[in-house]
Amino acid sequence: MQERLTAVCRFCGRQYRVPRSAAGRRARCRDCGEIFHVPMPTYQIDDTIAQWLLEDQARETRKQETGVSQAMCEPGEYDQMY
Ligand SMILES: [Zn+2]
Repeated sequence: MQERLTAVCRFCGRQYRVPRSAAGRRARCRDCGEIFHVPMPTYQIDDTIAQWLLEDQARETRKQETGVSQAMCEPGEYDQMY
């Protein structure tokens, strides 16, 4: 049984299905040509990839904060204030 992992290029977001044997290695993205890491199974995660995951998480949080501030500035609410 050949187990497959999903690797995501952190530069352009393209997803690849890679063999499990490629876990922890670096791959070159076919779309943007940048080098990205194939994630290890979590029980073997290394520092480099852990850092990468934290960066992604921070980006997600920022996206959510933007969504909230936009919702608070809806035209309807604005009118009621004046
Ligand atoms: Zn890419």
